[in-house]
Amino acid sequence: MSFQPLGLSDPIIHAVQRLRYIEPSPIQTQATPILLEGKDLIASAQTGTGKTAAFTLPILSRLAAHQPKTRCLILEPTRELAAQVVECLEDYTFFTDLSFCLVHGGVGYGTQNEKLAKRPDIVVATPGRLLDHLENKTLSLSDIEYLVLDEADRMLDMGFLPDVSRIIRQCPTENRQTMLFSATIPPRLQTLVGWAMKTPETLSIGRSATPAETVRHVLYPVAADQKFELLLAILENLHYESIIVFTRTKMGADRISGTLEQAGHKVVTIHSDRSQAERTQSLASFKDGSVEVLVATDIASRGLDIDDVTHVINYDIPENPEDYVHRIGRTGRASRKGDALTIFTAAELELVQSIERLIGVEIERVKLDHFPYVYTTLLDPKAASRRKPRRR
Ligand code: AMP
Repeated sequence: MSFQPLGLSDPIIHAVQRLRYIEPSPIQTQATPILLEGKDLIASAQTGTGKTAAFTLPILSRLAAHQPKTRCLILEPTRELAAQVVECLEDYTFFTDLSFCLVHGGVGYGTQNEKLAKRPDIVVATPGRLLDHLENKTLSLSDIEYLVLDEADRMLDMGFLPDVSRIIRQCPTENRQTMLFSATIPPRLQTLVGWAMKTPETLSIGRSATPAETVRHVLYPVAADQKFELLLAILENLHYESIIVFTRTKMGADRISGTLEQAGHKVVTIHSDRSQAERTQSLASFKDGSVEVLVATDIASRGLDIDDVTHVINYDIPENPEDYVHRIGRTGRASRKGDALTIFTAAELELVQSIERLIGVEIERVKLDHFPYVYTTLLDPKAASRRKPRRR
């Protein structure tokens, strides 16, 4: 099926043709008619499924042409996600005169004030800075017709729900179409849905905890004091084009980047203690291919759309099993193949087992050839089989 029968406007269809999208993804096929009809929508879709286009294409079709008032607000939990939606808008609005503005913290107010004064059709924002603009009266939400709450569960986790509620209360209720994207709808989000949405349609594309099928997962058991040595050896042995190494802590990320650099790798780092300018710069040099290794904490794991990441390495296991799915969602996107390699130690075995329960698959354990492994019970099949009955 092509994009033509979905009912999107011609300039939007031309824009996706220009991007060489051949057919709509399942979330796009299912969400587009609902959104073009003006209905509210709650959707959960796997990362990398084309979720951003699923909501932006119908909104852009309905916005049609520029008007000097802000009619669409897209809320995102992180600066990177907001910036990424704006990148998509640059592509999707190519044949229209629609304007948009990116609003997030960590940068000055000057440019944002100037752009907002021109009343862009669309504002893509993180909640904190958006509230600042509302308080400073540099932005009004009184003309909002389309409201998107993206990664709503993440906004809840990050403590943004009170801010999001304050923002929604400043939007008109009449003639407002509200869209909420979230892997899960915990009770507090359910309450918000109750007062902020009008008899929403619901869509679920695949199980939210299912990683893309194009990703090959493997586990590398190792003794704790050989973790870093193994990471270096894996990097030496891999044929990668671009790789993200995830760590649990900011300090861990800095330490790994430093040591990888000493070992001759070109590396950039993203975590929340780095300035916005540093984060943007790091992401840009990783995306344009001038740097092949990105070391990141979980801040980068949600929703970042980086083309052609061939490998994700988990240097340590995320505490929250869902973050594993988000981390590895960085590879195998839009049906490309990807590899997810996870290093783990005996202390992390329980976390590995919760991930396997979540994704419903036992992940293959592998050993790196010629690596001088020291003994750990994880490498001892007899010890492993002795452990199993105790777990039952
Ligand atoms: P998302 O799930 O929104 O982060 O999108 C993941 C990637 O898929 C992005 O790089 C999009 O540009 C790309 N994409 C979205 N829709 C399509 C489509 N219908 N055909 C091909 N690529 C797409």
